[in-house]
Amino acid sequence: MKHSNMRILLIEDETGIANFLRQGLEEEGYFVDLAQDGASGLSMALTGAYDLLLVDWMLPGMTGLEVCRVYRSEKYTSPVIFLTARDTVQDTVLGLQTGANDYIKKPFHFDELLARIEVQLRPKNETATDTEFILGKIKLNVETHQVWKDEDEILLTQKEFDLLEYLIRNKGKVCRRSQIIESVWDIHFEYNTGVIDVYINALRKKLNLKKDEDYIQTIRGIGYIAKELEQV
Ligand code: CA
Repeated sequence: MKHSNMRILLIEDETGIANFLRQGLEEEGYFVDLAQDGASGLSMALTGAYDLLLVDWMLPGMTGLEVCRVYRSEKYTSPVIFLTARDTVQDTVLGLQTGANDYIKKPFHFDELLARIEVQLRPKNETATDTEFILGKIKLNVETHQVWKDEDEILLTQKEFDLLEYLIRNKGKVCRRSQIIESVWDIHFEYNTGVIDVYINALRKKLNLKKDEDYIQTIRGIGYIAKELEQV
């Protein structure tokens, strides 16, 4: 059982979906606890027993959004993934602003959900020891400080390299502007985060990202995400 030490709290009021997800996740070796309304989900979450929360957006009593907001206000850091049928940009931004790490739109494929969960639960030191990172056609080596796209070496400035490295190390995760500033520029978020956009634009240009190579995506009002694109 590859995930046998991981505990997931599933907060989902639709019994059919809840049972389907619980069974699937348990087959993957996760321990799964289920809550079917927001308030009981929240009190379970606040025990601090979970490595990840899977939270439906629309719940009776208390919404998933409120659950997440309170969970974060109590300083819990386990990743939160929203299950949502709402798909407007505004709702997504709202979800991420409350401290969710990712969201997945219903209906979704179970395999996609599994992949998102694995990204969130991947041990941080697992990537820290790697020297080579891949993002689509882009390859980055942190030891030699080299970047390639396909076979072409791309020459980047130190900051451009640091920014790309940060995004690639966090591939599949939303990187907030304040996090990027703190990690790459080593300063705090009161600083004008507009500098990030300048560097992102420079990166996109140097990497010559075509329309179908949108590996560095903007999440309006939040930040950026480095993403492998779905195979067509
Ligand atoms: Ca629901």
